[in-house]
Amino acid sequence: MNRKPEEDPCGEPRAGSGTGGAPSVAARSSPAGGRADREERHGVVIVGSGVGGSLAALRLARAGVRSVVLERGRRWPLDPAGTTFPAFPSPDRRLVWLDGESSPLPSPRSGPWARLFEAVEAALPRSTGLLDVRTEEGAVIVCGAGVGGGTLVYGGVLAQPRPAAFERVFPALDHEEFDRIHYPRARRRLGGAPFPRDLLDEPPYRAHRLFDRAVRASGLPAETIVSAFDFGALREELGGVRPAAAVVGQYHFTGCNSGARTSVDRTCLAEAEATGRAWVRPLHRVTGLARDRRRGYRVLTEHLAEDGTVRERVAFHCDRLLLAAGVHTPRLLLSARDSGALPHLHPSIGEDWGANGDHVAVVRTPGLSADPVQGGPSATLVHDTAGTAGVMHAPLTLPLGAGRMVWLGMGIPDRFGRWVRSADGRIGLEWDAEREAAARAQVEDVLHRVAGHLPGATVIPLTPSRPVVAHALGGVRLGRATDAHGRLHGHPGLYCLDGALLPGTAGAVNPALTIAAVVEHCLDHVLTDFTG
Ligand SMILES: Cc1cc2nc3c(=O)[nH]c(=O)nc-3n(C[C@H](O)[C@H](O)[C@H](O)COP(=O)(O)OP(=O)(O)OC[C@H]3O[C@@H](n4cnc5c(N)ncnc54)[C@H](O)[C@@H]3O)c2cc1C
Repeated sequence: MNRKPEEDPCGEPRAGSGTGGAPSVAARSSPAGGRADREERHGVVIVGSGVGGSLAALRLARAGVRSVVLERGRRWPLDPAGTTFPAFPSPDRRLVWLDGESSPLPSPRSGPWARLFEAVEAALPRSTGLLDVRTEEGAVIVCGAGVGGGTLVYGGVLAQPRPAAFERVFPALDHEEFDRIHYPRARRRLGGAPFPRDLLDEPPYRAHRLFDRAVRASGLPAETIVSAFDFGALREELGGVRPAAAVVGQYHFTGCNSGARTSVDRTCLAEAEATGRAWVRPLHRVTGLARDRRRGYRVLTEHLAEDGTVRERVAFHCDRLLLAAGVHTPRLLLSARDSGALPHLHPSIGEDWGANGDHVAVVRTPGLSADPVQGGPSATLVHDTAGTAGVMHAPLTLPLGAGRMVWLGMGIPDRFGRWVRSADGRIGLEWDAEREAAARAQVEDVLHRVAGHLPGATVIPLTPSRPVVAHALGGVRLGRATDAHGRLHGHPGLYCLDGALLPGTAGAVNPALTIAAVVEHCLDHVLTDFTG
């Protein structure tokens, strides 16, 4: 016989009530979404602790609302010795996330290699590492896994789109309101600070200095980049007081061992937790969503050990469910809709997916000595006059070869891809890089105009058929799959508050700041659903 999960509207931990002081515990059977070993009930559940999930937890906590944040990855507490995160050139098992479902191996599985890939995959150990690397038909998608989400591995660039770009991408949003309220607030929440220009004179920033000079000489609109950095800590890295991390380019992809690049687990999520009203449950991987019998939601999770093995299956029941799983939000929703667990979700779930019009080029210049260490963060962003294509120098730790640097450009794509669910239940991406060819052409124009002012420069565009995508966006488009404020159509009490809301582009800039601004805007409107 199925027992109803125990009632606990506050979701307060109870001493001695199971793993981590779980609030309500009942041995469980097999309702919609799959079997659980244990069930808990909470008022509000948030899935994902990255940009969107952390902001939601903070705003709810400040409004007096308790929430449980389910995060598949582990915590990454900084240790003073600087060994928290894996580092190049000798990364270890802490780097990659492997859960038997996200896979770095190519898909779809057809043709002569299919069996081999399946066999290799079956032999791979599970791992709760930092970087989820997911190989799809047209792209290799990378995103963060852990408490802090993408901000654990991001470059920290907090760029705001130019007005024309914003209005093109978000015709239904009020640019003046965003410029005045949401962007400044988002910058504060994510800990934004402008790059101090005196750093350009330091040896690790020589490539930035060359890029900055070329940009200024090009006459194109340029700005000093605001990023999620503690520049005091970065100066301590330079002075040898802290372990060298950002100043040697080790902060994105791998995590930042000095703490100079900040992440939301140490800023807004930490603030939410400090209120006692946000309760983060690391190593809880959501595997299914469904309605429960009380018109709320049932969220099935695997509670993982750090080696990735499943300790138990726990189902979380809630009245309101906020999805902030980033790249994985549309995948979870599509799975739930097409399996009949959440049948009334909008037909557009999965659509409007894009790679942000990103385009990477290697630029070789004799002005850069042999193989200089390139420190971060990025210093200067240049745009075309319309603001619809932007370029920055992106320091990487990878061995690029003598006198080379990587420039990252971003345009505004006008053709998008989509996530689809196949008959075997697998969710795969239908997208290819050609869809962003027009955006890439615009970016290349800016790239060449800047490179023209770098003496002796050669631009080597990188156009792989399967590009690495760090700025994956869309799948739950704001105002289409949701109402104007992130409430999903068809299922009251269900919300999307993350990068899936953006229509495949952030408007020729890196996306995190705009994700935060859009989420803040949505929260301004939906908070009363929780408090009213
Ligand atoms: C290497 C790299 C560099 C980047 N640099 C920049 C940059 O400089 N500037 C910028 O603006 N953007 C950058 N980005 C992009 C930026 O990190 C993301 O756009 C942003 O973090 C997305 O925010 P989000 O709230 O949508 O999701 P995320 O921040 O990705 O958070 C989603 C969270 O949900 C969790 N999750 C996912 N699935 C599940 C599940 N099934 N169960 C439980 N939890 C789950 C994830 O582990 C993650 O913690 C970079 C990304 C990468 C990978």
